[in-house]
Amino acid sequence: MRGVVFTGDRNLEVRELGKPEPGPGDVVLKMMASGLCGSDLTRYRMSSDRLGPTLFVAGHEPCGVVAEVGANVDSVRVGDRVMMHHYTGCDKCSMCRIGYTQMCLVQNTVYGSAADGGHQDYLLCPASTCVPMPDALSFEEGAAVACGTGTAFHAVKRLGISGVDTLAVFGQGPVGVSATMFGKAMGARVIAVDVIPERLALSEDLGADVVIDASKDDAETIIRELTDGEGADATLDATGIPDVRINAVDSARYWGRVCFVGEGNTTTFDVSAQIIHKQLTIYGSWTFSLSGLAEAANFVVNRNVPLKNLITHRYDLDQADAAYKLFDTGRTGKPVFIWE
Ligand SMILES: [Zn+2]
Ligand SMILES: [Zn+2]
Repeated sequence: MRGVVFTGDRNLEVRELGKPEPGPGDVVLKMMASGLCGSDLTRYRMSSDRLGPTLFVAGHEPCGVVAEVGANVDSVRVGDRVMMHHYTGCDKCSMCRIGYTQMCLVQNTVYGSAADGGHQDYLLCPASTCVPMPDALSFEEGAAVACGTGTAFHAVKRLGISGVDTLAVFGQGPVGVSATMFGKAMGARVIAVDVIPERLALSEDLGADVVIDASKDDAETIIRELTDGEGADATLDATGIPDVRINAVDSARYWGRVCFVGEGNTTTFDVSAQIIHKQLTIYGSWTFSLSGLAEAANFVVNRNVPLKNLITHRYDLDQADAAYKLFDTGRTGKPVFIWE
């Protein structure tokens, strides 16, 4: 069987690997879809020195069918359609007990970087990480929900978005455009901001009321024009870029809410002027719990969220090099590897 490993500086290899055997408590998933997520690009771009001596199979949006179960597995059966919550922890601490194994107080493991992830024909994982999918959700949609889209759902939910809100979403990559889509599904007027035309076109397709090309126009000025000079009720940053984070904070109205989702970098704020005196509420939001994964998937199905339109490119695993080269340009929606 095949698996994709990043070898450093935007190089990758499709390697021949041995098929895994499930130990007690484990399952082997036959992969059906494996998404490409923005944080995969961070590792794809890393130098070989920073990747370290042990290279794991990439991909942390695994979705497939249970092919084999090990001893003592009764939570899933062969043939079940599942998404994988791509983390493991100690299963005993307070964070693991509420399903946030990524926040394990002892030690977490992230699949796709510290364990073999979804870009392979068969994936070995604990049965406890498998989340059954609604029948109406396709495998490629399940893969998207398994990281980027699920992350967006929970960030928008944290902001408490409703029909009275104007939500401005900064960054329209797969996570940001998913936030646009969910903001719309939760009733808000949504303003989508990016600098790449292909992304803004996808934002409109997924429900944005207004799109702003920040390479041409000042986002904060337009957001104020659209909100009687006051600013958006809620803003979300999906870029992690310091200047854009500052834009997200400054575009929020007095008493507004701001959610940071995009990772990395250091950002400096004048806390008194930009945050305290505006009475802002600032959230950080990192992915979701095990039950949160199921909740996001059910929302997509029950509210007819147009998630399938997010998936713009489909590849065989053998085309991994081309897939990552294109994703690296930022001009796609969500690319996925798919299996027949
Ligand atoms: Zn733990
Ligand atoms: Zn991700």
